[in-house]
Amino acid sequence: MKQVTDAVFFIQGQDEFIPDSHMYVIGNPSSKDLSLVDAGLIGKGQYKLNAIQSLGIDLSDIKRVIMTHTHLDHIGCLREILDMIPHAALWVHGSEAEDLEKGDERTVYGMDMFQSMCQAQYGIKPGDFAFQVDRKLQGGETLEIGGTRWEVIHIPGHSRGSIGLYCRENRILIPGDVVYADYAIGRFDLHGASGAQHKASLFALAELDVEILLPGHNRIMEKVPPGYIRETAEQWAPYLA
Ligand SMILES: [Zn+2]
Ligand SMILES: [Zn+2]
Repeated sequence: MKQVTDAVFFIQGQDEFIPDSHMYVIGNPSSKDLSLVDAGLIGKGQYKLNAIQSLGIDLSDIKRVIMTHTHLDHIGCLREILDMIPHAALWVHGSEAEDLEKGDERTVYGMDMFQSMCQAQYGIKPGDFAFQVDRKLQGGETLEIGGTRWEVIHIPGHSRGSIGLYCRENRILIPGDVVYADYAIGRFDLHGASGAQHKASLFALAELDVEILLPGHNRIMEKVPPGYIRETAEQWAPYLA
């Protein structure tokens, strides 16, 4: 657990043979109106909520979970988390929200082979990732969360409903799995992915003034060099049809 700013906390994922996404807590703790961004892999909810409580944050202050997208390494422990904070709402981009509500798990697993492997490994069953979504995000909204403002940016390509959350005031970007540190980007070969859309999304993010980059995996960047996302986009562009 690391405090990134007054109103952003970072809980590092605990990767196994499948990665576990990071979780971020956004909102000023004194506001008692906090959001979690992403959950994590199956079984990786309890330690994250323990880490939040160890900061003195009451779980009743967590009002919602916002998903950057719904791959298994982000949504795997969502049920576990919502069981512990059942009052929390679930906010997901509309295109993936509809799949969750229908019980269509193709985006969750990304590919059929992975689905059978995970169901065997974790004892999960078809239908385990059906969720009711309380707010379907579209992109373009500004969310007021615990005294902070976050713009929702629809950045498809890694998945259809990938979103980024951007705090313009503090130049913080939470891009999910669209762009990472070290000039890395997310996969663009899973169900619903598109290299061309991924490229467009990277160039859209390159327009933002970003000082702090908080991706879904690997290290976070607290001093992003100017032009970092543009350089990353340009390096990858030839591979993104
Ligand atoms: Zn992903
Ligand atoms: Zn991920």
